[in-house]
Amino acid sequence: MSEVRGHQVADDVFVFTGTAVNWVLIREGSELTLVDAGWRGDTEQVERSIRSLGRDPQDLRAVVLTHAHADHTGALNHLHDSYGVPLYMDSAEVPNAVGTVDESGGPLDIAKILYRPRVALWAAQIVGVGALRHVTVPDAQPFPQDDGQDDRPDDGALDLPGRPVPVATPGHTSGHTSYLLPSAGVLISGDALVTAHPTLPDVVAPRLLPGFFSNDQDSAVRALSTLRTVDADTLVPGHGPTWDGPISRAADEALEAAEHVSEEERP
Ligand SMILES: [Zn+2]
Repeated sequence: MSEVRGHQVADDVFVFTGTAVNWVLIREGSELTLVDAGWRGDTEQVERSIRSLGRDPQDLRAVVLTHAHADHTGALNHLHDSYGVPLYMDSAEVPNAVGTVDESGGPLDIAKILYRPRVALWAAQIVGVGALRHVTVPDAQPFPQDDGQDDRPDDGALDLPGRPVPVATPGHTSGHTSYLLPSAGVLISGDALVTAHPTLPDVVAPRLLPGFFSNDQDSAVRALSTLRTVDADTLVPGHGPTWDGPISRAADEALEAAEHVSEEERP
């Protein structure tokens, strides 16, 4: 059994990497919020990441999801069914999760670039962790409304450990959400802004995923403009290493690169 791969990026913020995908644990006291949950084949690694912080899955107050693609929803049903963990996301993403809508990227588009060795290797790995299974998340719920009973400022934060602030970044999927951790200066960007992916050129830099993964690439580009306004200096993407620098600069870099996507990168 392999060791869990993770590191701390800020006070009480820990990033873990499964099969070419990241998830994040946010700690507050003895409780945790999990952002995303890997592939289904990463489920054991998700549990191990929780235990690596000296906590148990019962200490999860909730999972919050960036979006309901199979590389981010893998452990959700297990965490809900075994430990009663609530599964929250933007209301626009719930149909993707419960399976009434399917906005996942096209396998045919991936097939067209399988001749590239990195893509072929990645494709073989993800098939092994559940890429070909269509898994739904029947217990997906929209974010709870803050009950206004506490005396904390109304900053749009969820009343969960680490007080993550959802930032709507639709495009990759209709309800794609990034999460800002204002006090830690961290933006968890999911697939709205990544720093590496087997289907991208082999550099580590802020980038949009290829358009064939997106439900609406024009909207994904507009989401980068939203992220330009976010005040944080650590980018934790859904795919690729953590990137240090102002999020506005990361978004600009990705916007610039998106304008120069070569024909070679298009499927
Ligand atoms: Zn992804």
